[in-house]
Amino acid sequence: MNNETPVSQPLYGLLHTDVEGFDVLAEMALDMRSSWNHATDRVWRQLDPDLWELTKNPWVVLQTVSREKLEGVLADPVFRKKTEDLVQSRRDASQAPAWFQQTYPHSSLTCVAYFSMEFMLGEALPIYSGGLGNVAGDQLKAASDLGVPVIGVGLLYQQGYFRQLIDRDGAQQALYPFNDPGQLPITPLRRPDGEWLRIQLDLPGHAIWLRAWQVQVGRVKLYLLDSNDAANYPPYRGITSELYGGAPHQRLMQEVILGVGGWRLLAALGIEPEVCHLNEGHAALAVLERARSFMQQTGQPFDVALAATRAGNLFTTHTAVAAGFDRFAPGLIEHCLGGYASNQLGITLQDLLALGRRNPDDPAEDFNMAYLAIRGSGAVNGVSHLHGKVSRHLFAPLFPRWPVDEVPVAHVTNGVHMPTWDSAAADDLWTRACGKDRWLGTTEAHEQHIRALSDASLWQFRQAGSRAVVEYVRDRLSRELAASGEAPEAADAAKQLFDPGVLTLGFARRFATYKRPNLLLHDPERLLRLLTDPERPVQLIMAGKAHPQDREGQALIQQWMHFIRRPEVRSRVIFLSDYDMHLAEHLVQGVDVWLNTPRRPWEASGTSGMKVLVNGGINLSELDGWWAEAYTPDVGWALGDGQEHGDDPARDVAEANALYDLLEREVIPEFYTRDEQGIPAAWVNRMRESMARLTPRFSTNRTVREYTEQHYLPAAAAYTERAAGKGVIGVELVEWRRALDQKWAAIRFGDVKVEPEGEQHAFEVQVYLDDLDPKAVRVELYADGTDGGVPERVEMLRVGQPANGKSRYTYRAGVPTARPATDYTARLIPYHDGVAAPLEAAHILWQR
Ligand SMILES: *Cc1c(COP(=O)(O)O)cnc(C)c1O
Repeated sequence: MNNETPVSQPLYGLLHTDVEGFDVLAEMALDMRSSWNHATDRVWRQLDPDLWELTKNPWVVLQTVSREKLEGVLADPVFRKKTEDLVQSRRDASQAPAWFQQTYPHSSLTCVAYFSMEFMLGEALPIYSGGLGNVAGDQLKAASDLGVPVIGVGLLYQQGYFRQLIDRDGAQQALYPFNDPGQLPITPLRRPDGEWLRIQLDLPGHAIWLRAWQVQVGRVKLYLLDSNDAANYPPYRGITSELYGGAPHQRLMQEVILGVGGWRLLAALGIEPEVCHLNEGHAALAVLERARSFMQQTGQPFDVALAATRAGNLFTTHTAVAAGFDRFAPGLIEHCLGGYASNQLGITLQDLLALGRRNPDDPAEDFNMAYLAIRGSGAVNGVSHLHGKVSRHLFAPLFPRWPVDEVPVAHVTNGVHMPTWDSAAADDLWTRACGKDRWLGTTEAHEQHIRALSDASLWQFRQAGSRAVVEYVRDRLSRELAASGEAPEAADAAKQLFDPGVLTLGFARRFATYKRPNLLLHDPERLLRLLTDPERPVQLIMAGKAHPQDREGQALIQQWMHFIRRPEVRSRVIFLSDYDMHLAEHLVQGVDVWLNTPRRPWEASGTSGMKVLVNGGINLSELDGWWAEAYTPDVGWALGDGQEHGDDPARDVAEANALYDLLEREVIPEFYTRDEQGIPAAWVNRMRESMARLTPRFSTNRTVREYTEQHYLPAAAAYTERAAGKGVIGVELVEWRRALDQKWAAIRFGDVKVEPEGEQHAFEVQVYLDDLDPKAVRVELYADGTDGGVPERVEMLRVGQPANGKSRYTYRAGVPTARPATDYTARLIPYHDGVAAPLEAAHILWQR
């Protein structure tokens, strides 16, 4: 065979689909479950060990392998039996009732559509940039584990995010390798007659066809759209070429495809989700298309359709600064969506723009995607406790005169999918302690099982991690040096770098200025002393990309490269290029300490630090994002004072010095203080506490259970109620809000009386409601919380008959005399059964 001359064949004709047993292999190869479940690894290793090691992409292995090899392994009855068993157990696993089915057997929730601009599932499908995609990918995987009925909706990029090369000057080069769809673990979606499912959208001047693809993620499906169809107007074919590249115009078109095209795809598949989860504002246009499809089904106008459907929409915001929101110039919205608004939604451009503006009447104001998402959702959440608070401040302008604590943004703290990020050794350790199915249900019992592990077993486990990461970085760095044109001696020397016995710090993340990746470099000589201490040395592994348009971020990389090139530093600091999921896995599995130095409160959550937990790594982080709620002195180390200081350079200096102090006085001594068995007992205790307490809490298992219980289930119920009877409740809500809008300006408070009545202040207030139905509002006494506690809200009850031609009503309530009566103010707010104020009606009137 090998001597024969190759012959040409049509591209997709290469698959040996007719080989008996091929189907079984294809079914396994096309399931992204292989990115976290390693049961099938040996199958791919047996087919092509080198290719498997390089790509970890079973689908590539299956396409590349020769017919002879395939027939050979499949002819072996033992291999055949093994693969058939694997497929059977995979099918059984996806049919068996999981946590969701067991906990909510009668739930009306049948489908959550999760929209995201990026998904990080595995290196085999590089359609992500970083944290946001990580959150999306890990949540799909946990939904699969838990049986929560989620489907993902995203875009298939022809190039994805850029790949990084560091040249000999330490400068970043951005490269865009092509994502060959034939080699990605995706399948085109076809109609029963074999026709490729394509979704049509009207873009300015041209209709566009979107090709539809499916990705299997365990029991969950992810659908992807791309615009690279031969039938399309050529400039439109490139809309889905890169992630976070291109001009605002391209970004908006991508968001149209994601939101409008994505919802239309679900309709074409006959999928009717009760819940639509918008992962960041990029996906907000789904709100419009969902309303449009409701209009089509019910004949209702847009405002009614939006009022009915928004109850089923959940918006998760990931941004901690106002500048981070996606905004578009009004002219661009007009260009891309003006026709859609008037022809399909039946609203004016002004109506559309108003949905994305703080002040609907300001013609200069940009269209803010996060605002649209808020106005189109029934609930909003941030991604950590602190980020919830930050987001309430960011969105406060949409809720004028409401106390900031009542701005309707809750939080669900992110987590990571532990089975994806644990090492093989960690998987063994956790399986022994907590069982094989430990991430498939509730996790509350894990803490005590991990706590029972001995010092010796934990320390052995940690040392194995150190050895593995040192081996990995040596190999990787020596190849990188050779590829970037360094002398062969330098590449050879890299094979001896680092020492598994030395304390290893890891720092890998996007090089954005707010993350302060150069904080450690503030005093290079002090850092150098710390690294090269002869008794207690330290080694540091770094990685990270800066956005190709971010010059400052790239300068920070170069600054590190110059430091590393100093001969005395070379053996102690390594910068690995092209930070991606593979690299992240190796680092989080092996380092002793994970560093994180953002400027508080700009890291909404951060997830990389969560990935070290399961592997016994310890966090040293600014008290920001998830760490602000995770940190206690026995689980890791904290930087900063838990306050915000803006971008004050003096603060950076102080925190850099605090970081050196912490390393010198606490981290390094604790690591090197050993008992008679050579074990650092205090270190191991800290590691054990971190593993036991934080791993379950910061796993996506917990996150997805919270989303399900706090958001998906109530949203599904609310949507089902509002959608009933072709949207009658929607009609009611629109009328209710219209009445509020019309009457609000005329409403006022009259006399207020306070009298002592036993242990209470008895309040009586008069309210002039014009002729608004008193059932449309609620009168309350409000007092700020004491000592940072929650505010007090006491409902006042309507008493007696209306006076003054039915416009004056009297309300009464009593409050304890523990606080002075002057602490309380009466206020009037909208009220409607099942409606969240101020999210859906932000009117408010204060008595003073
Ligand atoms: C986890 C991860 C991230 C996100 O990490 P942060 O802590 O949010 O910076 C980014 N990129 C990759 C490759 C990751 O694995």
